[in-house]
Amino acid sequence: MCGIFAIENNVDSATLAFAGLITLQHRGEESAGITANGDGNTYNTHKAMGLVSQIFKEKVLNNLSGKVAIGHVRYSTHSESSLLNAQPFVYNCIHGNIAVAHNGNITNFEKIKNRLAKSGSIFNHTSDTEIVAHLIAENTGKTTGQIIKKSVQSLEGAFSLVFIHGNKLIGVRDSFGFRPLALGKIDNSYILASETSAIDAIGGKFIRDIKPGEIIVIENGKITESLQFTKKVKEKLCIFEQVYFSRPDSILCGRNIKDARVDMGRYLAQQMKHIKADVVVPVPDTGLFSAQGFSQYSGIDLQIGFIRNHYVGRSFIKPSQKMREITAKLKLFPIKDVINGKRIVLIDDSLVRGTTAQKIVSTLRNAGAKEIHLALSSPAVISPCFYGIDTPIKSKLIAAVKSVEEIKEFLNVDSLTFLDINNMKKACGNGKPNNFCCACFDGKYPSKIDKNKLNA
Ligand code: SF4
Repeated sequence: MCGIFAIENNVDSATLAFAGLITLQHRGEESAGITANGDGNTYNTHKAMGLVSQIFKEKVLNNLSGKVAIGHVRYSTHSESSLLNAQPFVYNCIHGNIAVAHNGNITNFEKIKNRLAKSGSIFNHTSDTEIVAHLIAENTGKTTGQIIKKSVQSLEGAFSLVFIHGNKLIGVRDSFGFRPLALGKIDNSYILASETSAIDAIGGKFIRDIKPGEIIVIENGKITESLQFTKKVKEKLCIFEQVYFSRPDSILCGRNIKDARVDMGRYLAQQMKHIKADVVVPVPDTGLFSAQGFSQYSGIDLQIGFIRNHYVGRSFIKPSQKMREITAKLKLFPIKDVINGKRIVLIDDSLVRGTTAQKIVSTLRNAGAKEIHLALSSPAVISPCFYGIDTPIKSKLIAAVKSVEEIKEFLNVDSLTFLDINNMKKACGNGKPNNFCCACFDGKYPSKIDKNKLNA
């Protein structure tokens, strides 16, 4: 995952980037960084491991002077979680200083890195993002947009990128548009952000999504270039953004995420008409709106059955299984009055490894639940992601190795329902149900994937 936020033509650029990153914190909790451009040549950067609010104090932000800033929150999918790989990266090359921040996963990274290494390139990081800077260094063009165009044409996979080059802010989105990148404006400053909610957070106005395959160059409050780096464009936004990652107040594909999740819940209720239950209980926070939709459609009372500890991060994006397990334990506390003696429809967003769900079910059983009917607002995850989401290898995906009956037994639930894939697409699609990557649910990858990695 990861989150990026960028703003130009604003003397408070670093402070606004800080506010944007706070809003995007859910997209990555391992490290955060901001680079601001001082006078065209001086790039001021601060990055560290931890949360945005811990890293950026007033004094730090005051030292990040400049009218253009890019910020990044990281969740590692490709290389290790370390300060070395925290972004933004700043490079000096034939074109001057360039800063870059990336959301996604470049799938042909190793091939390009090997070629670059053979011709003498030296690498400072283990992140896939670094090759982008090397490609920029070896290309020329009449304009910044043309240089970037030549540089990103050979990249495959998922990449939403923002750059600072002098006073220019540049945004790029891969030809499938796997990861979101929104354009907004506040006064005379343009904004680029992973989610529209980050634009809202600083009082800006969402203008449009950066198109798949588009490069946009902005300078001093004006869009100076907008070009396509390839004609082979096929929109395939990651549907997991709607299911889990993005904030409910963000807009994707012209659809409010909250509305998409409410519809997912309605479709689930249609699929589960035969289930008799006393109460619908969401797993907070992502289950909330689907539970609302389920309750509205079924007429079964919605109740908050868990209190979430907000001082614990999102368990799915913790870098190790041990951390995920500890986090899951500390995160949710049951409200016994809601649960004791009840037949419960438990709504969660997805089932990946199954370990978190098993703990939640056990918590409900200990609190006296009579029946537990687990409803997932997504289909079974059967294939790994290669586009920037840290799903495990196939053998660790519970639905790839166990039947529904075996999963029911493993989780200790009375019934188990996955949202039908067509219902998920209808809920998210805003009339365009085929504009999504659903590869982790149906195994149909939009781009070429290394078979060895797929079957690992
Ligand atoms: S494989 Fe799954 S998680 Fe990865 S981009 Fe596609 S839908 Fe999203």
